[in-house]
Amino acid sequence: MVFDHIARRGLMLVLSSPSGAGKTTISRMLLERDANLSMSISTTTRPKRPGEEDGRDYHFVDPTEFNLMINRQEFLEHAKVFGNYYGTPRAAVEEALSGGSDVIFDIDWQGAQQLSQVAGGDLVRVFILPPSTEELGRRLQTRAEDSEEVVASRMAKAADEMSHWDAYDFIVINEDLEDSVAQVQTILAAERLRRQRQVGLSEFVKRLREGY
Ligand code: 5GP
Repeated sequence: MVFDHIARRGLMLVLSSPSGAGKTTISRMLLERDANLSMSISTTTRPKRPGEEDGRDYHFVDPTEFNLMINRQEFLEHAKVFGNYYGTPRAAVEEALSGGSDVIFDIDWQGAQQLSQVAGGDLVRVFILPPSTEELGRRLQTRAEDSEEVVASRMAKAADEMSHWDAYDFIVINEDLEDSVAQVQTILAAERLRRQRQVGLSEFVKRLREGY
């Protein structure tokens, strides 16, 4: 018998963090380095921002269409954030998982909580923390020409978001970007080896034992 690859169910990697902790950069680097990983594209009712592309950044729909999608149970989870609706389309995720591909989710703690209820063992939750308050403040400040007031309100929001750290499986403290990406890659590598995800294992072991 020659070892071939063993069929595996994909996993759902949820990355959450307060803004300024580096989540977006980390997910972009992971996507560039790992061909088996794709990003879940959410559906939203919020207006498209300059530079955004329908189908790449989000699927942009109107509230009527969004409601129809809720009624047709086309979302794995959905939430209202800052007055707009956001949802994770079910079909694309299910297709990727059953094909053995892993999907990355850039969603907040509420979305992660909802996904935990429907996705169970498929979910791997990673929370990214900044190394210190000073560093978080510095990262939030270097964004454009924000006023002190805007930065202070972002810091308060970040403090609130960080209170949800204990609902995650893994915590990465993002002091050095390369180290943090390597740490998430290590988490991925280990999670991919979980027995429950390797759906082809029983057939493989059967063949091993029968000697063909
Ligand atoms: P933005 O409008 O700035 O792209 O995103 C606003 C917020 O909505 C972010 O905190 C983002 O994590 C969250 N968000 C984006 N897509 C989804 C989704 O599909 N479900 C949930 N629950 N939140 C989302």
